[in-house]
Amino acid sequence: MLEFVRLHCPHCGESFDSRVDLSAGDQDYIEDCAVCCRPITVLVRVGTDCELLGVQTRRDQD
Ligand SMILES: [Zn+2]
Repeated sequence: MLEFVRLHCPHCGESFDSRVDLSAGDQDYIEDCAVCCRPITVLVRVGTDCELLGVQTRRDQD
């Protein structure tokens, strides 16, 4: 089950749309920013009914 989410880039401050597979459960992954191409750590939290609980973005190396 793919759902569109809006990711906020911690590097350049822009937002862009991405997709997450909610049926895969909680996920931590790296996605390159669509605007500045720098890597963003994305934390996705999914509920027991495959509903999206929250998405966080942060820099990989701080
Ligand atoms: Zn960016």
